[in-house]
Amino acid sequence: MTFALFACTHLGQAMAASSLVVKLYPHDELADTSNDQLRKDYVQPWLDEMRKVTNHSIEVIFQRNIAGVTDIPYQQIAPTETLATFRHAVPASYSEMSVLLTKNDFGKDDGSSRAVAGLASPTWPYAIASLVTYTALAHELGHLMKATHEAAELRFNPWVCETYVYPERMPLRSNCYRYSDENRTRIARHLDFVLNQ
Ligand SMILES: [Zn+2]
Repeated sequence: MTFALFACTHLGQAMAASSLVVKLYPHDELADTSNDQLRKDYVQPWLDEMRKVTNHSIEVIFQRNIAGVTDIPYQQIAPTETLATFRHAVPASYSEMSVLLTKNDFGKDDGSSRAVAGLASPTWPYAIASLVTYTALAHELGHLMKATHEAAELRFNPWVCETYVYPERMPLRSNCYRYSDENRTRIARHLDFVLNQ
């Protein structure tokens, strides 16, 4: 039993060299916001958290000015249609996640009373995320890595804060800038699965 556990651990560490690529596609309307600014405000806190979650290295690449992708008229179509359009326009790879970043929210989906801040494909590896909250990007990336609302939680730091995949964003609560312990486990397991192929 002990030997089996040791073997598993050793295997995991030895195979942790594969890296994850995250391709971010800032919408053309974000031309005035530099990649450095986006990285500082939206990406670095997530990378800091991911360093605690997985040994896999993560490379973030910005892709701009791509016709049919960074000019999707997302405010004129339903959020699900924006995601579908994005999904069909960018190439797929099992070691990559691709996210369209927008300045505003995505409006309301049919039957919903609330504006959508982000949406993730139920299968790897596409999402859309608005910059209206600091956490929509990390929330959707979490979904792509199998994090769930059910496994998310409120924590205290010391004020009550929402972990990244908490379903309801409430202004009175702060951000924890981390995933719940259970979602950390789910994400680590998922990355080991897709990157150790
Ligand atoms: Zn969600």
